[in-house]
Amino acid sequence: MSFRNLLVLAAVVASNLTYAVTDDELAVMRDKALTSTDGYDIVESLTTKVGARLAGTNADKRAVVWAKDLLEQSGFDKVWLEPVNFPVWQRYKETAEVLPPYQQTLHITALGYSGSTNGAVVAEIVAFSSVEEFAQSKTDVKGKIVFINKTMLRTIDGSGYGDAVPMRYTSVLSAQQKQAAGILIRSLGTHSNRFAHTGATILLDNPVPAAALSPPDADQLQRLLDLGMPVKIRLDIQVSITPGGSSFNVIGQFNGRQAPEQKVLISAHLDSWDLGTGAIDDGAGVGIVVAAAKAIMALPERPKRSIRVVLFANEEQGLWGAKQYAEKYKADATNHIFASESDFGAGRVWRFDSESKALNDSVAELLAPLAITVNLVEGEDIEKLSGGPDIGPIQDTGVAVFRLRQDGTDYFDYHHTANDTLDKIDSKALQQNVAAWAVVAFKAANIEFDSSD
Ligand code: ZN
Ligand code: ZN
Repeated sequence: MSFRNLLVLAAVVASNLTYAVTDDELAVMRDKALTSTDGYDIVESLTTKVGARLAGTNADKRAVVWAKDLLEQSGFDKVWLEPVNFPVWQRYKETAEVLPPYQQTLHITALGYSGSTNGAVVAEIVAFSSVEEFAQSKTDVKGKIVFINKTMLRTIDGSGYGDAVPMRYTSVLSAQQKQAAGILIRSLGTHSNRFAHTGATILLDNPVPAAALSPPDADQLQRLLDLGMPVKIRLDIQVSITPGGSSFNVIGQFNGRQAPEQKVLISAHLDSWDLGTGAIDDGAGVGIVVAAAKAIMALPERPKRSIRVVLFANEEQGLWGAKQYAEKYKADATNHIFASESDFGAGRVWRFDSESKALNDSVAELLAPLAITVNLVEGEDIEKLSGGPDIGPIQDTGVAVFRLRQDGTDYFDYHHTANDTLDKIDSKALQQNVAAWAVVAFKAANIEFDSSD
């Protein structure tokens, strides 16, 4: 090799040592993500090849194989599975029929962890307008079917869902304590279509049969009650709950170039309910975070810290994968620099929330062209900042979180229903999510690094 070639080689080596990805290069990465089909292709593959994937079922096992293949083909340094254990709940039959003189069927779906009626139960309906009214009521509901009919509000940030969720949890517990024969709730949904929303309730011994009515069926039942005559229903719910089930958190990581032991965790959940194909919940999240990681891996240089993608097992029935992850890694919590999850559908990101001024400052200009504002969360609000459902247990071990807030105005039209299918995803909005996640994850993995470059 000539002296001149040696000089060129030395210059290349030196530039590699000092090279750092610039904001201009990140802008190029961001803009490429806005035209890439990577994220959408992932959701399409998952919802088409696997479809619904209720935790612990054979479909869930196929989803784990699919996810492991996906991560292995995506270029991560390491891909692995971590077992997660939980009881397996499954539905077989769910019908509700109003008895004469108003005979007609009602559209219902059993809630996760509902019990069975063990043959149909026939009982009178006792209606309440809210969880609070039911909890405080002295009305004897023993042997009757409780009906809670509270309408959920449509909001951009999901706060309407937060307000309605106790209808699916605490009211079922109250119904069991008051020895009701069953409980029907108005679906936690914001539409007027004739399909019902499932979702988990509390895991109880000898659980009461519990189901959600579609919104128009809840209205119909209310009108029947308003006629002033007793309304009787034949409710037939057959489900099973089997101990000893399992699945896996599916994990991929690419290592940072300076501190590989430190990582930024970006995540989604792999499981879904059994009614739709789990496109918006949470196939979209899987597509978003994996495609974002791929966009970062395609850069000329890696961030200083590692990026770990976790596709959590069984979020839907109580954060089973997330809780077992947090327990396993609690001694490693200080090496988790940030954690976040994409689990709010495929709507556009409109705001970035974090407690790190340095992170906010570093992403603000790059997110602005995506129409995303940056919000610094301070003081008491830091405790209320959620990184996503599966991030709660990790946050409890002291890990900082951030959130890319999505527009969820339409999310609860489809969430947990048979209508959660691929056609509900706007591919442009999904691309905007991928672009934003790629920028944020890269910057989070590079932030406040004390050693010299
Ligand atoms: Zn979800
Ligand atoms: Zn869900």
